[in-house]
Amino acid sequence: MKITRVETFAVPPRWLFCRIETDDGLVGWGEPVVEGRADTVRTAVHELADQFLTGADPSRIEDLWQVMTKGSFYRGGPVLSSAVAGIDQALWDIAGKALGAPVHRLLGGPVRERARAYCWVGGDEPAAVRDQVAAQVEAGFTAVKMNASGRMSRLPTVSELNDVAARAEAAREVLGPERDFAIDFHGRFSTAGAVRAAGVLEPYAPMFVEEPVLPEYTHLIGQVTGSTALPVATGERLYSRTDVLPALRAGIAVLQPDLSHAGGISECRRIAALAETFDVAVAPHCPLGPLALAASLQLAFCTPNFLIQEQSIGIHYNADAELLDYVADRSVFRFDEGHLLRPTALGLGVEIDEKAVRDADGSAKSWHNPLWRYGDGAFAEW
Ligand SMILES: [Mg+2]
Repeated sequence: MKITRVETFAVPPRWLFCRIETDDGLVGWGEPVVEGRADTVRTAVHELADQFLTGADPSRIEDLWQVMTKGSFYRGGPVLSSAVAGIDQALWDIAGKALGAPVHRLLGGPVRERARAYCWVGGDEPAAVRDQVAAQVEAGFTAVKMNASGRMSRLPTVSELNDVAARAEAAREVLGPERDFAIDFHGRFSTAGAVRAAGVLEPYAPMFVEEPVLPEYTHLIGQVTGSTALPVATGERLYSRTDVLPALRAGIAVLQPDLSHAGGISECRRIAALAETFDVAVAPHCPLGPLALAASLQLAFCTPNFLIQEQSIGIHYNADAELLDYVADRSVFRFDEGHLLRPTALGLGVEIDEKAVRDADGSAKSWHNPLWRYGDGAFAEW
């Protein structure tokens, strides 16, 4: 079997899909994208395809992963790691279809029958938090996640810290003791600010506090883990085993690799195994589309230290298109009491609606995250 064609499709709201075709007629799909840099990653995918993929045997996933990540001297980072990630997903999809099995069966078989999932809730005011959490409880979710704050001063004011606590208090009141909320610091806090914010959150017992420091300050995350009893999570902006190692050594409790950023199923499988040696749970980051979610679930179902899956079905921030718009059978992402059921179809387990994808290609408005500034005009983290 040989790879004959690699195509990419930029589709709303901000996603990039990759389609790999073989001379056997098998087709694999993946989702190589960095939010806001879809065109850049698209170029990287085609450069990798021209250099390494066309004419290659798609079943040699590990060898192709090695040469794609190491064979061009410069390596790593979000763009290259995300390009490889989506290609890797598509190669696993082909492998599953060729061998007649879902990917998780090729990786040792299922270790669970359903995967707990959470839904993101927005809202800047406690009243909005209360309503949105209640809606997700009503929908059956047992956990939600929300941002800790909006724009955050370098050293938080009493008022800002009170707001952080008020939202957490509102969420806990609705959820009660049986359900969970996680709270995302989103890299908006300084290290010192994150320590103070974690302190005010302790009475509300969030499941974890996420990205308390920016990825470039991962060497400082131990100051946060050492200061609070709350479990600390990070990882959506880390792209390899070596990237995550300092966080693991610093005592995080939850690692959040993104299957579309951190080298795909191949590398995230290894990241999960590395995390297990530190007694750290894995909660794959996934605000992306159907292929990223499908790849995440394949990992979730064969990973003993899996904790919970992020997913964005029907989420408010995807205004132009929705995850289920691109799948042929919407029932593949079925929920049962806030859990996603184990996929049984071959490969990644999701059939893409190819016509919908081809029709949507090129119609995505370029997406960029907000650019925030402080009152004095200086840049502020979003
Ligand atoms: Mg996050």
